[in-house]
Amino acid sequence: MKNKKSAIQKRDHIHTVIFEPAVSNIGKIIKFLNLEYPDDTHTSLKNRNAFQLLVATILSAQSTDKLVNKVTPQLFKKYRTVEDFAGADLMELQQDIKSTGFFRNKARNIINCAKDITGRFDGKMPDNIEDLTSLHGVGRKTANVVLVNVFDRQAIIVDTHVKRISNRLGLTVNRDPVKIEFDLMKIIPEKNWSDFSHRLIAFGRSICLAKKPRCSICGLLKYCRYGQENT
Ligand code: SF4
Repeated sequence: MKNKKSAIQKRDHIHTVIFEPAVSNIGKIIKFLNLEYPDDTHTSLKNRNAFQLLVATILSAQSTDKLVNKVTPQLFKKYRTVEDFAGADLMELQQDIKSTGFFRNKARNIINCAKDITGRFDGKMPDNIEDLTSLHGVGRKTANVVLVNVFDRQAIIVDTHVKRISNRLGLTVNRDPVKIEFDLMKIIPEKNWSDFSHRLIAFGRSICLAKKPRCSICGLLKYCRYGQENT
């Protein structure tokens, strides 16, 4: 089991240059994703407003959307407003979100983030990347999820799937999500940023799986460095 795991990790080794066939065929890659995943243009995290999506995205770190969607309906019934979260009891909130993992940090971040919004932004959700990333516990990925799904902006969302697949394809050689985001912004036309992110996530859940990518049936095989090197 251990050997199998290390073999998989070995094949996902780090390169120092991007893979030209992937970059020069980015239009075809985008077209493929558009055709295969036409409906995957939004987050699968349940939410009714920007702050709920922010909370759900914080909870989704090191977890799955499916698990988070089981927790949030009850959570948002109990804590209805930003002020409710700002005034939440830390230990109680920890218990409320425990099943999503890393619950101590997440509970602290959610409360402090809600306090930032009530204290610095008059209780209103910021709608730009600078203000969103100034909130406690909010990084660029979380901020971009909100900007794309609530404020209809174009942004590249670098989650675990986008990070893994953009490396496998050879669109980036970086492992740091922020560097990957800026690499992809240079390659992908801005009008495609948001849809590309969501569709690549859907592709990562169905074909380019983390442990066992299904390269033999993958429509991107001929443009993909990992596929060319491992099949
Ligand atoms: Fe992923 Fe394999 Fe397809 Fe490359 S060829 S994108 S590694 S499934």
